[in-house]
Amino acid sequence: MQQSVSIRDLSLNFGAVKVLERMNLDVQQGEFLVLLGPSGCGKSTLLNCIAGLLDVSGGQIFISGKNVTWEEPKDRGIGMVFQSYALYPQMSVKKNLTFGLRVAGHKKDDIERRVARAAEMLQIEPLLDRKPANLSGGQRQRVAIGRALVRDVDVFLFDEPLSNLDAKLRSDLRVEIKRLHQRLENTMIYVTHDQIEAMTLADRIAIMRDGIIQQLDTPHAIYNHPVNLFVAGFIGSPS
Ligand code: ADP
Ligand code: MG
Repeated sequence: MQQSVSIRDLSLNFGAVKVLERMNLDVQQGEFLVLLGPSGCGKSTLLNCIAGLLDVSGGQIFISGKNVTWEEPKDRGIGMVFQSYALYPQMSVKKNLTFGLRVAGHKKDDIERRVARAAEMLQIEPLLDRKPANLSGGQRQRVAIGRALVRDVDVFLFDEPLSNLDAKLRSDLRVEIKRLHQRLENTMIYVTHDQIEAMTLADRIAIMRDGIIQQLDTPHAIYNHPVNLFVAGFIGSPS
């Protein structure tokens, strides 16, 4: 199976603090990988390195076989969705979706086609003329996902995208993201500290503690065969 994202000996320091140290990770093409771990263990740092929002202290990042360690974020073929929605407040939903495409020089009819497809997939057609201030949290997060969707990225990175939503919206959007993945068949790396999200969404889960992956396996295997007490405790498995 082809590797979509490969991390080789990745280190990231903030000053003297080593957040990631010689991390290795392979994510397969089309895989839904969940990074699960307690607050402060380095999940966002890892995603930001993959996205190119942080310069690494050592090691390499490959996307679809290409070394992107020092590529600009926009050239990496990734789309990122954050916990806070990071929409342009002064622009309509439609402008939020099209802005990046215009900057990248896409033709008008191509842009229209991409927006129509994303709006249909995320059920946001009725919202296209609204401003972000007039959307619910769940609707804003759909638009944020739409911004990655219109760019046709190979890899989606999600950093706790549902954390700001109430329980009902969270479970709705979780189902929606799962459906989206089944339809797009692209690679998704999804950060959460919520075990239920991890167990229901993941093909595989990487359990992180203090910048180190403790176990990487299917939800079933992690639940039934945790490698240590930390994993067992974190996932709530019986042993
Ligand atoms: P997580 O997303 O798992 O909650 P983070 O990746 O945000 O964890 O943070 C990992 C560690 O790095 C934490 O100890 C955090 O305090 C530290 N950290 C994160 N960002 C910075 C920064 N810009 N400067 C210094 N330390 C940081
Ligand atoms: Mg985080």
